[in-house]
Amino acid sequence: MTSTSIIGTSDGTAQRLAEIRGGVRPTRHNARTIAALTRNPGCARRAVLDGAGVDKQRLAAYIDFPSRFGQSQFALARGNAFEAQVKANGCADLLSLLRERLGLPIPEVAYDDLESVTGRDKESPEVRYARSRALLTRAASGDSGAGTLFDHPLLGLEVAGQRVYLEPDLIAFQHEGRFHVVEIKSFAVVDGQADPSKVSAAAIQAAVYVLAMREMLAESGYDPTIVSHDVVLVCPRDFSNQPTAVLVDVRKQLSVLRRQLGRMTKVDQMLAALPANLSFDLAPDAAGVPTRAPDAIVDALHAVDARYAPDCLAVCELAYFCRNEAKGCTAALGTSAREELGGIERVETALALAHDELAPAEDQAEAAALLRSAARLRAELMAGVGL
Ligand code: SF4
Repeated sequence: MTSTSIIGTSDGTAQRLAEIRGGVRPTRHNARTIAALTRNPGCARRAVLDGAGVDKQRLAAYIDFPSRFGQSQFALARGNAFEAQVKANGCADLLSLLRERLGLPIPEVAYDDLESVTGRDKESPEVRYARSRALLTRAASGDSGAGTLFDHPLLGLEVAGQRVYLEPDLIAFQHEGRFHVVEIKSFAVVDGQADPSKVSAAAIQAAVYVLAMREMLAESGYDPTIVSHDVVLVCPRDFSNQPTAVLVDVRKQLSVLRRQLGRMTKVDQMLAALPANLSFDLAPDAAGVPTRAPDAIVDALHAVDARYAPDCLAVCELAYFCRNEAKGCTAALGTSAREELGGIERVETALALAHDELAPAEDQAEAAALLRSAARLRAELMAGVGL
């Protein structure tokens, strides 16, 4: 299971984020969260909530817009069982696949489980990160005794001006001086084919790990490109429990990720523009019911600008709330509609311009001409089919 937690923020920012979150531990995120963040980098609402580690799922349910995505308990259990199987006996199954895919020679195996020293929950992320960094940089230095397989390494990544920890459920695998990120997924590869959307989501997640590993090595003075852009994707074959491995080139995902992370507004700047008393605290009373009314939480959400797009439905827990809020906005029709209708914020304005019921402002002239011809074409088509 992957996770991240917030580190490296200034004391003032960390304090402010903790107040916004309320008196609970920050939500543990995963590489999916970072991948999703980059899908909507302009959304301040998501950036603030994720930056503060607010449990968006719980928040959405409390204000009566529960999210309807995420893995089912069954899928989670199946994923965990498959991962355990692939990693059983010092990764025996995985090793034979890696030998097949990457030509790993039989003697070249040394397995290190980086969470085994005192257990995942007993150590601070700082300690686990330091240990991962020490071991992985030792391997990067070419030390022959440094190992080849590293289970549960803890990585770090800068996200919106904050450093977050990433705990991959994968193995950073070193062979002939190069690291390969291994991503284990429980969706099936049938006759050599897998669901493209699932492969694409896995590739983005793996790219997050590649980027984090590259940054860690670069910070330590090593060549980041020794982390391969080819990741090893391990999945069950033909609905059996038999694992199979394919190499996936994530260069495209890496460049999108880098660009989007670079564009994200720094949390400090966003916080400066928000009300001083902003809080999404869902602290419960003695009966376990949050002490703040849902309306107060909704008001707090309205205080932070959102940038709803239909894509949000697939990646953000607040999508149903934001979609409802964005009703009537042209942006809610999708990125291409938003771009085509630049300067026209509301659907009713677009309709009035299309039907010549409103004179366009100077910056709306181009979009208005397009809308009018689209309306004309539609009218002709409708007349043609007798509607
Ligand atoms: S659903 Fe809302 S909060 Fe989430 S990314 Fe979209 S607009 Fe932002």
